[in-house]
Amino acid sequence: MKFEYRYHGRSEVSQDAGGASTMRFAPDTLRPPTHFVADVRQPLVFREAMAALHAVVVADLRFKPKDRSVYFAWLQNQQAELLAQFMARAEQLKAQIAPLQEELQDLRKRKTAVMGPFFTARQQYFNWLYQANKEAWFVLDPVITVHPDRVLFEAFSQDESSYGLLSCEHGVFHAASDMAYGTTNVDYSDALHAALQQVRDYRPLRLNIDPSGFGVSTGHLDGDWHEPKIDVPESWVRGFLQVSSAMTLPAVRLHLHPMDIHNIVLRLVRRRERVGPRSLRFILKPGEGVQIAFDPWGDVLQCPRSRHDATEAREIRIWGRRRLQQLERLIPLASGFTVSLLGSGMPSFWQAQLPGMQFTLGLSGWSANDWSRQGNFSLLQLRQTLAAETHTRVFAALAECWVASTDVLCQTTGLDSSTVIAALGLYVQAGRVLIDLGDAQTPLWRLRELTREPLPLDQLRYASPQEGQAVALVQARALSKLSTTQDGIYRVLTATCKATPTGSKTLALRLVLDADQRIVDGHCECDFFFRNKLMRGPCEHLLGLRMAADLQAAPIVAQQTEDRAHV
Ligand SMILES: [Zn+2]
Repeated sequence: MKFEYRYHGRSEVSQDAGGASTMRFAPDTLRPPTHFVADVRQPLVFREAMAALHAVVVADLRFKPKDRSVYFAWLQNQQAELLAQFMARAEQLKAQIAPLQEELQDLRKRKTAVMGPFFTARQQYFNWLYQANKEAWFVLDPVITVHPDRVLFEAFSQDESSYGLLSCEHGVFHAASDMAYGTTNVDYSDALHAALQQVRDYRPLRLNIDPSGFGVSTGHLDGDWHEPKIDVPESWVRGFLQVSSAMTLPAVRLHLHPMDIHNIVLRLVRRRERVGPRSLRFILKPGEGVQIAFDPWGDVLQCPRSRHDATEAREIRIWGRRRLQQLERLIPLASGFTVSLLGSGMPSFWQAQLPGMQFTLGLSGWSANDWSRQGNFSLLQLRQTLAAETHTRVFAALAECWVASTDVLCQTTGLDSSTVIAALGLYVQAGRVLIDLGDAQTPLWRLRELTREPLPLDQLRYASPQEGQAVALVQARALSKLSTTQDGIYRVLTATCKATPTGSKTLALRLVLDADQRIVDGHCECDFFFRNKLMRGPCEHLLGLRMAADLQAAPIVAQQTEDRAHV
């Protein structure tokens, strides 16, 4: 998926003679003019919050295989030699080979001596490139939204698993001199992040989402312009939309003390696990503080100062816990953290309450987006049967005021709240509306066009045709006799499933998940499985079985799924 931007100048942090800094963001001039110029009241808090957003942008916890090409080259070399020895059965040949081999060895030694400095220099170059060219890692430039009450910064990680949203009240700024509401991408670089680290509390800081580029004629491009064209993987865009739309779902909320977050991060930094499950288990009992168990060690962290709103005893597990280190810099500044848990293996949201700001870290169910975990979230993208006229009415009402609560939109449109939520849910999935959990009890809907051109939703909806068919199977209730048994560290799911949502033929399914909930084995009686086994990912029946089991583990989300499917 191709994205194009046109920036006037580069984003930078500059200092004037008096020591005041200006953080200038160059907005995308191809989008409707959006600007904001104001002084930041608490530069230090703002700096740390932006640093947390940076941590999200560069986060990549994917498994990186070791480079073994050198080893294989060596092995190939050895094979030739071994073969040569084998062929030389005759003593005479061996005698001939021996001096040649000696000569060869000598030649190799000399070659190593000659080439050694080159290999060392090459390695140094690659190390330098890795450090110097970090900008090449950034996938999509962050998005800034200027609204009548807040300024928001959003970003999504490289590994497609973490979402960051920094939401600043206008009270954080003073002497605002220029403002135009809207959403734009901003030029962003590692150099900008490094310069931001120089910001100090005693030096005034001005935030400048620079309007100058919009006034300049774009007829011909002088040296001040640059136009990056970025090719973003579809799965990245899909991940962004999925994680942000999960915020619209109901969740169990916990309120944790900053020390609790510190203790979680500390335990993870101190120890490394070699085997799964690599999960955090939240043990919630009504009237008691939150307990957090660390697998596979079984340590339990007691959080006596915490609160939660679970009305019955529950245990919720989340994976990819090392991503919580992205919150580390906010711990000393936050007054508390609000955590929203949707269910085991589902996304979670960690919101730091900062003075005048909230930083939300959204985590997908897992830190890796590989096929063995595919399909754990697609059900949340539901089939909606609202009339087109209804959507557009709700959207137009929101577009008028930029930001509104569900109640306000019900009043202006005369529709009931479930219709308004369903309609806006669709726009959230399309990247055109953002849900801001804010600091209030009532979340706010905000107009935010993620991209200049509308996203091709049909293309983005599912990761594979099997995933789309699996959703149809679950919605048609084609699965029956679902059972889950634990076999040592493995979880075995079995069920029978109709071959197609409306057909009568049934198939017996079996799926085995490991302690980290990865698919390790499975069996189905359909054609796709017969031909491909699991080599091209699971068939729609096995994916459907997995989704149905996930929904059982997340009762509140399942209820919402039911409600929404019947809107
Ligand atoms: Zn199948």
